[in-house]
Amino acid sequence: MKILVFNAGSSSLKFGVFDTGLDDWHEVDAEFKNFKDVQCELHYWLSAEKGKRRQQLKPVTNVNEAIQAVPALLAEWGYEDFDVIGHRVVHGGEQFSAPTCIDTSTLPLIEAASALAPLHNPDNLAGIYLGLQVWPDKSQFAVFDTAFHHTIPDVAFRYAIPERWRKQGVRRYGFHGTSHHYVALRTAEAMNRPLNELRVISCHLGNGASVCAIEQGVSVDTSMGMTPLEGLVMGTRSGDIDPGIIGYLSRQTGLTIEEIEHQLYHQSGLLALAGSADFREIERRATEGDTQARLAIDIYAYRVRKYLGAYTAVMGGLDALVFTGGIGENSAMMRQKICEQLEFFGLSIDADKNRELELKDCQVQVISSEFSKATIIVTQTSEQLMIARQIYQHLRSVDSSDQ
Ligand code: ADP
Repeated sequence: MKILVFNAGSSSLKFGVFDTGLDDWHEVDAEFKNFKDVQCELHYWLSAEKGKRRQQLKPVTNVNEAIQAVPALLAEWGYEDFDVIGHRVVHGGEQFSAPTCIDTSTLPLIEAASALAPLHNPDNLAGIYLGLQVWPDKSQFAVFDTAFHHTIPDVAFRYAIPERWRKQGVRRYGFHGTSHHYVALRTAEAMNRPLNELRVISCHLGNGASVCAIEQGVSVDTSMGMTPLEGLVMGTRSGDIDPGIIGYLSRQTGLTIEEIEHQLYHQSGLLALAGSADFREIERRATEGDTQARLAIDIYAYRVRKYLGAYTAVMGGLDALVFTGGIGENSAMMRQKICEQLEFFGLSIDADKNRELELKDCQVQVISSEFSKATIIVTQTSEQLMIARQIYQHLRSVDSSDQ
């Protein structure tokens, strides 16, 4: 079976074609990113040209245009022959905990979940609409970022707020679920242990960032909440703040709730702390002695460390810590800062292995020292592959239950 997967984010469009008959499933792995006024970068890898990663500039200026460009690219590359389509959908609300076939009964429910994630779900829906228009005869499935977190218990997902608000769907949902699940499985594989015997903390540190506690193979807590604004310091998002700040700012400055929300999503985080959301630049400035950049890195690492402590306590111990996402995979400095002086709960990083680490094509690398009780791992995430796997498993289970 061949599966085309769309992963539309706010600042990039990733897409891939997966063939379940191949050892590694990969046929196409592509990404539109760095959108500018007149063009963007397209990075891609095709199975027909094994090993070659290519890069082109395309006259495409946003995610929506990128989505529209996919059918012609697949035709140009000769990968139009696929059976089903999968879409990453950020928010599935309380309803969706499994891959869901998109049809006239489920599409309105997915559209309704946009109210919970107005900044994310519309991009995912654009991919779904394109699929319905260009390939109306193909089955399409939605795989939700929130689905992996449906196992989080009441004690972790409830906010202490009035019942009438809870009835409006105000609770913690969590995001990046597909990525956390994927890297936790990779971690278990690398440790040669079943995931359901491990207590894992997954740190997805990209532009968006979250931490997830995974116990006996399921998510038991995660740092993002009802929206992807809660938790860690991110590229442009504040993460945890005192909710009292919103009322205070509204009264003192006359800003509307929408303006405050916009600034918390787009003008906060590393951007607010260091004047840039690009961690590479912040890291470079920090090594040159820039105190603002150094403080931003310290604040970022401090917040992650707080969650590591909290989730180790939640699970009563820790067997593995896994880093992924652009910062988690590439910044030795950040991993070092996060793991420093955590030997008391069994976490000891090998500074040399950490510094010298080079990740290639979804490798899993261990950077813990021989004294560490918990294994520290770095790996690339692959949300597209995980989406394809989940759709395939879903279709096989539907098939076998029909027999
Ligand atoms: P997204 O959430 O958009 O998928 P990514 O996972 O690509 O984000 O992560 C983007 C972040 O990773 C940016 O802050 C970027 O600067 C940082 N990053 C990427 N490569 C490196 C690197 N080599 N060293 C440090 N940070 C990096």
